[in-house]
Amino acid sequence: MGRQLYETPGEEKAPGMSGTQKKVIVIGAGLGGLSAAISLAQEGYAVEVLEKNAQIGGKLNVLSKQGYTFDLGPSILTLPHLFERLFQRSGRKMADYIPIRPLRPHWRNFFEDGTVLDLVPEKDRMAEELRKVGQDPQRFQDFLAYAGRLYDLVNAGYFEKGLDTVGDFWRFHGLLDFLKFDLFRSMHGGVARFIDEPHVRDVLDYFIKYVGSSAYDAPAFMNCLPTIQFRYDLWYVDGGLYHIALGLRRLMDELGITVGLNSEVVNIRTQGDRVTGVTTADGRSCDADIVVSNMEVIPAHRQLLPPDDAARRRLRHLAPACSGLILDLGLDISYPQLAHHNFFFSGNQKAHFDAVFHKGVLSHDPTLYLVAASKTDPTVAPPGCDCLKILPHIPCIDPEHPLTEEDYRVFKDRVIDKLERMGLTDLRKHVVFEHVWTPLDIQRQYYSNRGSIYGVVADKWKNFGFKAPKQDARYANLFFVGGSVNPGGGMPMVVLCGQNVCRKIVEWDRA
Ligand SMILES: Cc1cc2nc3c(=O)[nH]c(=O)nc-3n(C[C@H](O)[C@H](O)[C@H](O)COP(=O)(O)OP(=O)(O)OC[C@H]3O[C@@H](n4cnc5c(N)ncnc54)[C@H](O)[C@@H]3O)c2cc1C
Repeated sequence: MGRQLYETPGEEKAPGMSGTQKKVIVIGAGLGGLSAAISLAQEGYAVEVLEKNAQIGGKLNVLSKQGYTFDLGPSILTLPHLFERLFQRSGRKMADYIPIRPLRPHWRNFFEDGTVLDLVPEKDRMAEELRKVGQDPQRFQDFLAYAGRLYDLVNAGYFEKGLDTVGDFWRFHGLLDFLKFDLFRSMHGGVARFIDEPHVRDVLDYFIKYVGSSAYDAPAFMNCLPTIQFRYDLWYVDGGLYHIALGLRRLMDELGITVGLNSEVVNIRTQGDRVTGVTTADGRSCDADIVVSNMEVIPAHRQLLPPDDAARRRLRHLAPACSGLILDLGLDISYPQLAHHNFFFSGNQKAHFDAVFHKGVLSHDPTLYLVAASKTDPTVAPPGCDCLKILPHIPCIDPEHPLTEEDYRVFKDRVIDKLERMGLTDLRKHVVFEHVWTPLDIQRQYYSNRGSIYGVVADKWKNFGFKAPKQDARYANLFFVGGSVNPGGGMPMVVLCGQNVCRKIVEWDRA
């Protein structure tokens, strides 16, 4: 298709540019960076993406070894309509680039007492599951209605208008709407209002996994999260989620976006209250009218910009979300009880959240997310075998009290012990391939703040769920995109962030 569908910048698609195409450098090819790059190219900017790694996608990453294919990063796709917009704006259909299909059940939940509970969006089937554990299905529906109201509120402003500050919120919502955010409860408090059955409570609390925070610290409006599954479904991309990156790359090629791989940016050049370009590790100097950093806000300020105490103070409240131990196992058998997405719950989930978010220690009994894509996708493992990715949330790196490789190894054994205890009998004996990433690997790979996997934590007391604003406070032509920026982490959110930062740039640039 080449570039013929691309409306040439400087002609009808570049209002306010006086016939010259402005140059944007995007630092980092994570999903936020890719979404910003595509959106800006669609607005007529000349876009160059510089990525330090050898492939695009950032945390959307893949590992293929010995006949097993693992999603090293995200494995759950939600809100695909936010990705679809990137294609629609170029007159294309996402399905032609990234075919997706819904999964059933959404999650299978295992508990230490032997209870197994599936989450499905169909009301009648969900009611059957709830009755198994003695939860009144009507109260569950009441909870979903509450979650849906919160989603609609959050979506109208925070998501779709790209609101960045409490001031923005106040102006958009006014006092009456503001109160509807269930301001005084935590996420767990919001769940407990409707749900009294402990297993169901734990499951609904664990929707906070989508942003790597604690249900006891996150504001109640994070209860919007179940809506993304129960209203908009949960999706899979055959062959693995890295096909999202491959589909976006095709679109980028068609839009003429230049991507420099193995191109680490080591400096953002500044002049007064503007940035003028970037320098790469191999000494290349690239001028730009606008720079968009998909490197997280705090590392970018620390490593790429001149020291700035005011910025450090401004960003202090943006504590990182949790990290994770990423454990990929290729097995020589298949466990029939597993679904595609599984959760093995802690016997005391509050203690697990406390360990990760307050004590900074490896949880004695973590809640485990386990994805077995081999259950629905025969291409990711040899016949009759499972490939498992296991992801317990763990504290991000504490530079003052760092955990050792040995600490992580002991923790990994605890994770496997738990899975064997909860039904994956003889798991150890069936491992034929193993790959482990600790927070140190995650930090090294993506330069995320202290090895965080979802950007900034959502915490009622630290930041009330707000992340960094999209436009830098000091350098007017420097913008940020990704999990450390509003609306925060998770694939659909960073893709939305890329579209919102583009809108912000266009409004600012053409004002
Ligand atoms: C294990 C794991 C599981 C997850 N599960 C899910 C899930 O199931 N569903 C979901 O929706 N989300 C999930 N997430 C979260 C999701 O992957 C992230 O929120 C999202 O992909 C982050 O995108 P981002 O735009 O913030 O950038 P990132 O993915 O962080 O990418 C930033 C990019 O910038 C590059 N970079 C950084 N500094 C420089 C520099 N100086 N020069 C050049 N390049 C640089 C990095 O190499 C990287 O490629 C998961 C994440 C992880 C790690």
